[in-house]
Amino acid sequence: MDVKREETINDLKRILGTEKVFDDEALIKLYGKDAIFREGSAIALVLPESVEDVSKLLSYAYKNDLKIYPQGSATDLVGSSTPHSDGIILNLQRMNRIKEISVVDSYVVTEPGVRLFELNNVLSDYGYMFPVDPGSVKSASVGGAINSGAGGMMGAKYGTMKDYVLELQVVLPDENGTIMRIGSKTTKSRQGYDLVRLIVGSEGTLAVVTEATLKIVPIPENVVTIAGFFPSLEDLARAVIDIKKSRFDVLIMEFVDDLTVKSALENTKTKISGEGNMLITSVITSIESADRVLNSLEEIFKLHGATKVYKARTQQESDELGLMDIRRNYYAASIQIAAKTRKKETNKIIVYPEDISVPPSKLVEAVRRIRELEKKYGIPMTLAGHISDGNIHPNIWVEEEDKERLELLPKLIADIMRIGIELGGTMSSEHGIGTTKKEGLIEELEHKGGLKALELMRGIKRLFDPKGILNPDKVL
Ligand SMILES: Cc1cc2nc3c(=O)[nH]c(=O)nc-3n(C[C@H](O)[C@H](O)[C@H](O)COP(=O)(O)OP(=O)(O)OC[C@H]3O[C@@H](n4cnc5c(N)ncnc54)[C@H](O)[C@@H]3O)c2cc1C
Repeated sequence: MDVKREETINDLKRILGTEKVFDDEALIKLYGKDAIFREGSAIALVLPESVEDVSKLLSYAYKNDLKIYPQGSATDLVGSSTPHSDGIILNLQRMNRIKEISVVDSYVVTEPGVRLFELNNVLSDYGYMFPVDPGSVKSASVGGAINSGAGGMMGAKYGTMKDYVLELQVVLPDENGTIMRIGSKTTKSRQGYDLVRLIVGSEGTLAVVTEATLKIVPIPENVVTIAGFFPSLEDLARAVIDIKKSRFDVLIMEFVDDLTVKSALENTKTKISGEGNMLITSVITSIESADRVLNSLEEIFKLHGATKVYKARTQQESDELGLMDIRRNYYAASIQIAAKTRKKETNKIIVYPEDISVPPSKLVEAVRRIRELEKKYGIPMTLAGHISDGNIHPNIWVEEEDKERLELLPKLIADIMRIGIELGGTMSSEHGIGTTKKEGLIEELEHKGGLKALELMRGIKRLFDPKGILNPDKVL
């Protein structure tokens, strides 16, 4: 071990305590991985237990030019939580207390390491929920969701993290590791420039979140769900447009393509079956109106060619039928399809999840253009997503040994991002920028005449993090 490295580890152990600092290589390797097997290394792993620990660490890092890589559950999909060998992994999993729940004031105060799933388990006892539910909800942490600006299945109704963060306690990467509180526990607040919203989606590049006050909402009284199978994705997208025109109070609207349906049906316990592309729609409505709403939805589904339709009058019925199982199995199904179709069993597969959004009225065109790209590049993919927001997640795979396709992959990804940009949407809806979408960000800003924003963003980064020690080389 080199002297500087040893000195750093000893200093950190002295400042924070030996039980919070780890230099075991196997452990660092484990924490260095993200959800799609990107790998990074680090000098050490730090597991703080309090805001004071984080403050001491950032102050030490500032004084010693040490890089810090904040991390929640490392389920990010764009390389934003991956560390580098020159720094420290700061994983906030031990700061996992829910500190306060106020139903009257509609908020929960929580530490960053609480997982969204656990948060909802606790809130359900109060008849409340936290409505941002990414596909990774069982693992994703509050701090990670805030910093990636996460969205999810209920985005159609409730929006994304930027709509739910009321107040934050953060630690700055400066000489003193300054602890700063911004925002307010009220749903209305004007505090000059909106620094809370600046931290949301900043991907751990500006400050470390150590506590958050999040807005909560009542669990809807009743939700009906319909699922159906369409021969073509274009027909399905047309049904989506008609549903949107019909003024239903849509809670969830998700789609999954035919390939995924086929694979997921073999691997989930769902009680439904069908062929083609699947659309699942949940609508908030009273139990008294359930049949009327479901029948109207069924009419739209059938008008656009749905061959088989399943209806659930309550959440419980939907769960029993497993109407969401196929959608929730999307990433796993893509991996299974990729594994089955690889040329050699020993070949290693990379499954890359894309994340564009288009205005929903442009969905048909977007889907058509993505399928054309699939043919042009000869690289297979599955399609699914949060279709009510126009958010499409192509899962694209290549075999690591297939050098020709591997080389084409970045070009295909760039072309898919371009579809989002050209159709008036975006190249990153909810996964963020990290390291993989930096060029896409520049292209989008350029296309919209907003390149100057990059300069402003760089200035903001320098103000928060003058030495560039916090999650460097991410986003910008
Ligand atoms: C199967 C699967 C499905 C997914 N589905 C969705 C989806 O539907 N919608 C969606 O939006 N995302 C989705 N994701 C992406 C990801 O899970 C989310 O972005 C999630 O919110 C990240 O949470 P995390 O705790 O894993 O954060 P991490 O991956 O650990 O970190 C994410 C970012 O936040 C920073 N960070 C973490 N904690 C802090 C903190 N306390 N202070 C400062 N910075 C911090 C990190 O540096 C990094 O930049 C999915 C991922 C997978 C693997």
